[in-house]
Amino acid sequence: MSSLRAILQDRFGFSDFRSSQEQVCQSIVDGHDALVVMPTGAGKSLCYQLPGLARKGTTLVISPLLALIDDQVSKLVAKGMRVEQIHSGRTREQSREACIRYLKGELEFLFIAPERLAVPGFPEMLEKRRPALIAIDEAHCISQWGHDFRPEYRRLGERLGRLRGGGATGASLGASTGAAASAAAVIGAPTGSAPIVALTATATKLVQDDILQQLGIPSAKKFIQGFRRTNIAIRVHEVPVPDRGQAAAEILAGKGRLPAIVYAPTRKVAEEISAKLTKAAKGKLRASCYHAGLDADTRETVQEQFLAGKTDVIVATIAFGMGIDKADVRTVIHAGLSGSVEGYYQEIGRAGRDGLPSEAILMHSFADQRTHDFFFERDYPEVSVLDQVHRASSARARTADELYDDVGKCSRESFDKALEKLRIHGGIVAGLDGLFTRGTADWKMTYERQRLHREKSLQQMVDFVQSTSCRMSYFLKYFGDRDAKGDCGICDRCTRADSDSSRELTSKEKTIAKLTLAALSQSNGLSIGRLHEQVGEYQRGVDRKLFEAVVDLLGQEGWVHVRRDSFTNESGKLISYRRVEITDLGESSGAGELDDLRIAEAFAVSEKEPKARKPRSRRRTPAARSSRWSGAEA
Ligand code: ADP
Ligand code: MG
Repeated sequence: MSSLRAILQDRFGFSDFRSSQEQVCQSIVDGHDALVVMPTGAGKSLCYQLPGLARKGTTLVISPLLALIDDQVSKLVAKGMRVEQIHSGRTREQSREACIRYLKGELEFLFIAPERLAVPGFPEMLEKRRPALIAIDEAHCISQWGHDFRPEYRRLGERLGRLRGGGATGASLGASTGAAASAAAVIGAPTGSAPIVALTATATKLVQDDILQQLGIPSAKKFIQGFRRTNIAIRVHEVPVPDRGQAAAEILAGKGRLPAIVYAPTRKVAEEISAKLTKAAKGKLRASCYHAGLDADTRETVQEQFLAGKTDVIVATIAFGMGIDKADVRTVIHAGLSGSVEGYYQEIGRAGRDGLPSEAILMHSFADQRTHDFFFERDYPEVSVLDQVHRASSARARTADELYDDVGKCSRESFDKALEKLRIHGGIVAGLDGLFTRGTADWKMTYERQRLHREKSLQQMVDFVQSTSCRMSYFLKYFGDRDAKGDCGICDRCTRADSDSSRELTSKEKTIAKLTLAALSQSNGLSIGRLHEQVGEYQRGVDRKLFEAVVDLLGQEGWVHVRRDSFTNESGKLISYRRVEITDLGESSGAGELDDLRIAEAFAVSEKEPKARKPRSRRRTPAARSSRWSGAEA
């Protein structure tokens, strides 16, 4: 038995490694830096804890969430390990005690929150003893691209360079002189520098590269694994917004579809759907609502009852799910388009943890993009707004109200949002006294990057919906997980399980489709509003909803492509809009095939598992279709 396996059994009490854990552990024990990207629940903690024990000495764990630190610490303590934690939730005395134990070499694990590294004297204290391993949990928070970007992580790479000691590999950034100077004073240092391992469940390729760069470990080994879920059948349906509650009720009335989670785009919609489900099932279905607007006690009760099997369905906003460990969730329904592929994947991942067949059903329509536009404008104010607030700040510490008075024409809501963003990106610094002073001048670049990235995330979700290839394969490609197992065979794309309740287009719809294609083929693409106007010039009384439903259908057929775009108007304001373009497929075959086109009537759900159906004659083969779209999916 290898020594790693012995530690696994003796110290952790696990009989075997999960897939790829052993490989990761071995690599870290051998001294390599690593980036571990695996889905939540895959067992990433073991990937630093076990090598930490094997390397002997103390493993330093940097983790951004106090609740997660607490959870990990109590699990390790329960396994009899020597663990301490230092963060703002601890008393000065407790922290002092932890430092002493660390310096004496008594600890196997020391957990710290990243902001500790900014406390004068603390990094110097840590540097007196070289850790055996440095782990950064939830590493996506390091990335400037990620929406969870935390300013405390800004100088992490630099600090780690000194901390890891030895011949700092890539952890450059002026680390070498410090390391050389302090090397002599380091106590009980294991030979060689400490490897760094970064762990996260949510990182796109862009974020992965950024993490490695920020940490100064460009040659770290990447372990991106475990994203394939073989028991979740994913289906995407176009359903008009008002019909979604009813559609969810029909789905959940099917056999074996409970327990279930329904994700709603807003609190209000969550409440509406929850009420609708209860009503539709005439009391036979126990549904509860969960969102951040409810008080903590209510949320806890709702969650407990769901876990205990006393509630059949939770209708929730995305506030629900962190740390939820319920193995038998059979269905996850999204009553609206998610804001990102990562978020969507995370949410449907709560289905079927027990490995039994489960379903994920996404309802969307064109209108969802408008909802997202609204959230986007609200949550990511334009740079000019931030600029105003930044200019109003100065070296003199002032309250938020004072700052707001100086800013002038700007709603309080967008002022608050701008202030929050400036704090995150370092443009304004908040003191412990709650007063604000001016920070760095270079907040703009990271903010703009993050804003663009957010916008792109939304576009990727639209691409996912429109993509004609296997849903699971789309995820694997998205995360950069290269397992070679091919298409899932159970999603709507693999089974072509199209809705049975489709109908032919009415003659009016056909006319709208024809006019739309004609207008587009004479342009390089048009904004959705302009396109609607043009169609309206030839056909009277085309309401926007009907028009958008037709554009949506054309999008699904791959005849047009809808993407977000933006321009700057005369007053320098960035205006974002949806742009529609005709595809080659639309040019070549669109108008001629309109008679074959079918539109979903109402949402109806089959009782059975999605089964393979004979493709309709006009359908291109999946291979032919996906190759057409491969550019858009990459
Ligand atoms: P992640 O950080 O990837 O979300 P965790 O590290 O918290 O996941 O692990 C999830 C659960 O799986 C934990 O309860 C952990 O104890 C358990 N686990 C991890 N590895 C193994 C293993 N090899 N055998 C059994 N259970 C494991
Ligand atoms: Mg974890």
